[in-house]
Amino acid sequence: MMINQAGNPIRVGVLGFGGLGQAAAKILAAKQEMTLVAAADHKGYVYRSAGLDIDAAISAYDKHHSVGYLATGGVLSSNSIQDLVENADVDGYFLALPNLPNTFMADVARQFIHAGWQGVLVDALKRTSAVEQLLELQSDLQQAGITYLTGCGATPGLLTAAAAIAAQSYSEIHSVKITFGVGIANWEAYRATIREDIAHMPEYDVEKASAMTDEEVAALLDKTNGIISLENMEHADDIMLELAGICDRDRVTVGGVVDTRNPKKPLSTNVKVTGRTFEGKTSTHTFTLGDETSMAANVCGPAFGYLKAGMAFNRRGITGLFTAAEIMPQFVR
Ligand code: NAD
Repeated sequence: MMINQAGNPIRVGVLGFGGLGQAAAKILAAKQEMTLVAAADHKGYVYRSAGLDIDAAISAYDKHHSVGYLATGGVLSSNSIQDLVENADVDGYFLALPNLPNTFMADVARQFIHAGWQGVLVDALKRTSAVEQLLELQSDLQQAGITYLTGCGATPGLLTAAAAIAAQSYSEIHSVKITFGVGIANWEAYRATIREDIAHMPEYDVEKASAMTDEEVAALLDKTNGIISLENMEHADDIMLELAGICDRDRVTVGGVVDTRNPKKPLSTNVKVTGRTFEGKTSTHTFTLGDETSMAANVCGPAFGYLKAGMAFNRRGITGLFTAAEIMPQFVR
């Protein structure tokens, strides 16, 4: 069993308590090796060293849009991340935050460095340019004693790691093609995810999508019947596979379909890795996710698997920035 240095389960915090943050909390409720002790959202945070009452946290968020309203351990704050980091004993955080603007996650990483905090950080970042900003913090993270694992969701994340494994059969990789299908019952459950997806649509960008009101997003989705179809996205799977030495980034493509009005996936999420074997044969490995697995399961499960792996690294004094394509996640019991 994975325990922290005090002999207890790993103390976990979740930053961002929207769709993914709440799913992450529900996943941790059933784990023995990790305890959720902290959560933060835009308006406040909650910290309880013995572990959060997850149902109460979700109900406070539903009612008041912030965990800061919780009677036990809740604090309202407009600077919730910094206040939590300064006041809580946490071994590792999952950053389930919107990356809006596109510099936000790198700014949060800097906040941790400046606070003198040490431990493990895991994100589910999506854009190549966002991962590039974190790469610039490589030596700062290392010196700060932070083990930061980036791109640890589904794509990038689970599918990128699967591609790294599939590549081992080949002498040369010709292409890595990721196609995702996401089905959610309503877009409001994952506002940041949907805004960031809209930012990839023709005629949109991150700035434009983040400035859209909820009504404008709903009006756009009305026009498309709730469907967002994307191809040739700027997705960090490319830089992660390049950094892992698997192939040049231009051989990696990512696209998919999001249905914001139906929890059934519009297509099966898969990654196809095509290459040439040492005998000169061209072949394709395909890894397909089960249609019953939700986006939340495929993002938050890997994120905690990487957090556990990051803890093992951190304890051995291995710090700095890593991606999901260069480390094997560990299974959290
Ligand atoms: P959401 O909109 O449902 O929730 C965001 C949460 O962050 C809210 O609780 C909000 O209060 C909080 N927040 C916003 N600004 C904050 C601040 N300054 N300080 C503290 N808290 C703040 O978001 P979501 O749909 O759960 O998505 C979260 C992220 O996960 C997005 O960036 C999305 O792109 C990413 N994601 C990654 C993958 C992947 O496979 N890699 C898949 C889906 C989503």
